[in-house]
Amino acid sequence: MIAEHSLDLITRPGSVAVIGAGIAGAACARGLARAGLDVTMFDKSRGFGGRMATRRISINVASDALDLEFDHGAQHFTARHPRFRAEMARAVRAGVVACWQPHVYCSWPQSESEAGFVPVPGMPALARFLLGGIKTHLEHHVRHLEQDESGWTLVMSDLSRRGPFASVMLALPPAQAALIVGEHCEEWANRLQSVRMESCWSVMAATEDFDWPWDGTCPEGGPLAWVARNDRKPGRQAPSGIATWVAHATPAFSAAHLHESPEAVAQELQAALRSVWPAQRPLVWHHLSAHRWRYARPYPAARGSEDCWWDPVLGLGVCGDFMVGTDVEAAWRSGDELADTAAATLEDTVLPVAAL
Ligand SMILES: Cc1cc2nc3c(=O)[nH]c(=O)nc-3n(C[C@H](O)[C@H](O)[C@H](O)COP(=O)(O)OP(=O)(O)OC[C@H]3O[C@@H](n4cnc5c(N)ncnc54)[C@H](O)[C@@H]3O)c2cc1C
Repeated sequence: MIAEHSLDLITRPGSVAVIGAGIAGAACARGLARAGLDVTMFDKSRGFGGRMATRRISINVASDALDLEFDHGAQHFTARHPRFRAEMARAVRAGVVACWQPHVYCSWPQSESEAGFVPVPGMPALARFLLGGIKTHLEHHVRHLEQDESGWTLVMSDLSRRGPFASVMLALPPAQAALIVGEHCEEWANRLQSVRMESCWSVMAATEDFDWPWDGTCPEGGPLAWVARNDRKPGRQAPSGIATWVAHATPAFSAAHLHESPEAVAQELQAALRSVWPAQRPLVWHHLSAHRWRYARPYPAARGSEDCWWDPVLGLGVCGDFMVGTDVEAAWRSGDELADTAAATLEDTVLPVAAL
């Protein structure tokens, strides 16, 4: 059944659909909108940010309902590239990103403090900020694309249709992008399928509050790669007397336990998490759960020679962290680059005739 109202029938010149409201898609959408294009964002999730995510969980403690929050995906990010630094300076001024210099314990070197940025009050705030003023449809899972003389139509998993659009940008993890470009560009689909991604089990825990001298640590030799005290990050808080924690399992542990249930994985990692803290009387645990990131981070060797792909004849583009590196900054740069590259060919379609 086609919902009539969702089909515009005539492609609007310069209309672009961006699929994926993570940081790459947000950067791409923002760049295209800045260039005067008519941008519409689609994402399958209920919120913005993709792997820059904050999970909210309610618990009951002594018959009080308490709200907890966990940044269970990306923890913090760098801003080294001049363009990303300029964008982050704006975000800091707007109060949606804060500087964070965590006190981190790692055995290499003994202790180190790594400066970075975090969106506030939660990780999705940055993508939401970049997408300000851009039409965004959340909970829209794009299943495939159709192209005819009127342009691109997006077909959702409930078979509803959106479009047509003159161009489509995919800002998705490579395996998910491959499913969508497959029937339109075999070469890209093959290259996307060959990108290897690490998975990551992320544990969210709440304990009674106790004195811990660090904001984060990189345990060595066990199943955990990173443990952070979530409520000590800028703009975060926990109910009085409670400490919130996020722990990431190593790629090796995550791959070996990929198909286990979240409950089993949380139980298995609890002892490793406990061993990170000083031995003291038994701790009170208020919450323990786990989330599986199937596509967490690209293997570093995944990077190709281009920062994004853009085919002006097809009107199809691809961006994402894996094109430039393995992190938030890489994702932003790829999205920004795709916007710039595509806008150079698309801007002509929206310029008034007199300006040509
Ligand atoms: C556990 C973990 C820890 C990390 N730690 C850090 C860190 O500390 N520092 C750092 O810089 N980076 C870190 N990263 C990596 C960082 O999060 C990513 O590199 C970056 O966020 C990727 O952004 P992206 O926009 O390319 O992809 P994503 O954030 O994955 O965005 C893709 C979006 O596409 C949507 N989507 C997928 N399929 C469809 C579809 N069919 N239809 C519609 N929408 C769809 C998804 O819902 C998602 O919102 C971490 C990642 C994980 C998982």
